[in-house]
Amino acid sequence: MPQKVAILGATGSIGGSTLDVIARHPQRFHASVLTAHRNVDALVALCAVHRPELAVIADPALEPLLAQRLRAAGVACDIASGHAAITAAAASTLCDTVVAAIVGAAGLDSTLAAARAGKRLLLANKESVVMAGTLLLEALAEGGGELIPVDSEHNAIFQCLPGGRSTPHNNQPHNNRLHNGGPHNGSLRANGVRRLILTASGGPFRGRTRAELAGITPDQACKHPNWTMGRKISVDSATLMNKGLEVIEAHHLFGAPVDVIEVLVHPQSLVHSLVEYVDGSVLAQLGNPDMRTAIAHALAWPDRIEAGVAPLDLAACAPLAFGPPDLLTFRCLALAFQALRAGGDATAILNAANEVAVEAFLAGGLPFLSIADVVESVLTELPPQAVVDVQTLVERDRLAREAARQVLCNAC
Ligand code: NAD
Ligand code: MG
Repeated sequence: MPQKVAILGATGSIGGSTLDVIARHPQRFHASVLTAHRNVDALVALCAVHRPELAVIADPALEPLLAQRLRAAGVACDIASGHAAITAAAASTLCDTVVAAIVGAAGLDSTLAAARAGKRLLLANKESVVMAGTLLLEALAEGGGELIPVDSEHNAIFQCLPGGRSTPHNNQPHNNRLHNGGPHNGSLRANGVRRLILTASGGPFRGRTRAELAGITPDQACKHPNWTMGRKISVDSATLMNKGLEVIEAHHLFGAPVDVIEVLVHPQSLVHSLVEYVDGSVLAQLGNPDMRTAIAHALAWPDRIEAGVAPLDLAACAPLAFGPPDLLTFRCLALAFQALRAGGDATAILNAANEVAVEAFLAGGLPFLSIADVVESVLTELPPQAVVDVQTLVERDRLAREAARQVLCNAC
């Protein structure tokens, strides 16, 4: 029987790449649940090809239209709408595996629900880890399922960490962070890991000064040199907030203290990240910049399957370059490190403020450089509090969004 895979955020960039890999392996995987926010036509087109058991549209007002279009396309799957329906589907018997590919905090509930239900969780939605890393790890422990990172850097690190070997340190606090009984038994230090090195392309504005970033438009910011992605993550890549969110993600997923994590700019995006060991060995995972590699690895792990990705031709590549990030120009990365060091729910506050600021930038209502200013103001206004439960966190997320909107108002 094929593995039943729910793709939350099926109409997005990660959703599309996931469905491309799944379609190459019909004996192995079936896309049993597809969800989208508001794009009915895109969801119907995917349903016509992949024939899921259930299609969910997040906006309830669009459910009748979805029903009508599916009927017209000759697709007879079940239909549901609303965020609660997405969350319920993630925990239901309709799927064994959940690909969390919704963008932003909107993905939190369904990610947590999949973890709690013990699904195999393929995590792209980094914002849910940044908001609620400790709660997600608790939910995973409760559900007893596995988490395989899809974010290319974390997937690379996952591949470079020690595999298949039990250690005398099986009861260390950071055990089984990603899955039960797999290769990450034992803490990083017990496994001889000295540093996790996250590579960053540097985005479309690498090498530019602050003065040169003053009049940047949304379309310029969304033109990433190496990756084709959704607009929110593209802006995050341009500000380097994406790398900041990934540092926080690595902290939680791998149980890595902040000082063990480094960021290295590597413009070609061929080395996806590295793990340095105490003996001086540095293991890296390389590949063409195509998310289907990380997705195929996560779908099939511990097996390997074809992903449709062109082989990497290193001889044809320009010399690989590496350098330090410019934290003064790209202040969002520095702010993310600051929030992680501050502890408590500071990273949730950072994430909420950033989502509001990026939305305003994309709508033409905020200059590119002011994204960092909004985030910094909100972090100052809302000092960190301990993370207690999801309800409190959601309320803090709301307060941070309100504070960010106030900063935007004051600026206009
Ligand atoms: P995208 O904008 O292309 O797609 C987002 C998907 O989420 C769409 O299907 C959309 O319908 C759905 N969605 C958006 N808002 C929603 C809401 N309020 N409720 C329910 N569904 C909603 O984004 P993407 O580039 O595919 O990124 C998705 C996630 O994966 C993000 O968290 C991103 O950081 C992460 N990620 C993406 C890439 C990449 O290459 N695109 C790489 C690593 C990680
Ligand atoms: Mg990434």
